[in-house]
Amino acid sequence: MPELVDNLANLTALRDRDALDIALVSAINDLLQPQTTGICRVVGEEGNERWLTSAKLDAGQLAPTSDSSWTNLDLLPRLADQPLRQKAIQLQQVQQNNACPSITVFPLAGSVDSIGILEIGTDQPLSEDSQRLVSGVLRLYFNFQSLLDYGERDALTELLNRKTFDGAFLKATIEQKLAAVNEQGDRRDRTAAGTYWLVMIDIDHFKRVNDNYGHLIGDEVLLLLARLMRSCFRFHDQLYRFGGEEFVVLMRCNGEEEAASVLERLRATTEAHAFPQVGKITISIGFSEIKAGDTPSGAFERADKAVYHAKGHGRNQVCSYSALIASGQLAEATQNLGDMELF
Ligand code: GH3
Ligand code: MG
Ligand code: MG
Repeated sequence: MPELVDNLANLTALRDRDALDIALVSAINDLLQPQTTGICRVVGEEGNERWLTSAKLDAGQLAPTSDSSWTNLDLLPRLADQPLRQKAIQLQQVQQNNACPSITVFPLAGSVDSIGILEIGTDQPLSEDSQRLVSGVLRLYFNFQSLLDYGERDALTELLNRKTFDGAFLKATIEQKLAAVNEQGDRRDRTAAGTYWLVMIDIDHFKRVNDNYGHLIGDEVLLLLARLMRSCFRFHDQLYRFGGEEFVVLMRCNGEEEAASVLERLRATTEAHAFPQVGKITISIGFSEIKAGDTPSGAFERADKAVYHAKGHGRNQVCSYSALIASGQLAEATQNLGDMELF
């Protein structure tokens, strides 16, 4: 019993979702000492969904491991390769087989954009008492996650709010630095890598939507745009609503061309979407690569300049900060220090 309390206390001390999964797996491992405990989440586009392991601990292993979110999706097991897991999600019920080791799968009700399971492998099928214990721990985990979501997500769109942005940005710059070090040491590490990009998305003439159709319809447009964003970006991209009609994405991809093509797809999808009552809406997008040692304000300044450029050149377009610099359409941010007229 004290062990259970200890484990739950550890679990609820965390704010980071990845660390929370690792703590949950460690707690189940301590409580039941199974052969294996793992949390897997469904990632990838519709029709090509895969299982990404966010935490896994085998008997005798010292600490949980996880798939890197940099993993090439095509190398992960397909959704249909794991029918027991699939059934647990579809029915939202615990599933168990009688193979040896026996596998018990618990569906994980989680955040809006995260479907997953907890899988426990044991020599003998997991007893009803143990299943009840795990279900109790999972309820606590869900409640705790909802509490985190309440503080960290925007109530209207359920995208992240700006509260967690700085932490995510710092993580991205550290990863970027490590990737650069690995690139020097071992080129093979670079194959699954990529770079982080800061994206700013601003709805064009949104004030007119509010003025012509009212705030409620305006809010619906924001909600629908958030949905379009979810469908265009990938599982490892982090989507934020920074207030008003401004959205921010911390995106990871392999180079500027790929970033531009994902963003162009979002721009075109938005333009083609029929928004109820309002009809057509367009967006302007600016983006810039995040460099090792970058600060949020530095990266924002660059992405913001790119959006500003889009706004001044017809809106409804995607602008890359570095492309604007390279073509001479924008002056480098650091060179603008002298912009202030002193006399
Ligand atoms: P631009 O193309 O230059 O971006 O024009 P705009 O009208 O979109 O830009 P501006 O920043 O002048 O106006 C933003 C408007 O967004 C002002 C306000 O009416 C609206 N807005 C801000 N927050 C919300 C919100 O939470 N809900 C709704 N419905 N409207 C909002
Ligand atoms: Mg705006
Ligand atoms: Mg706007």
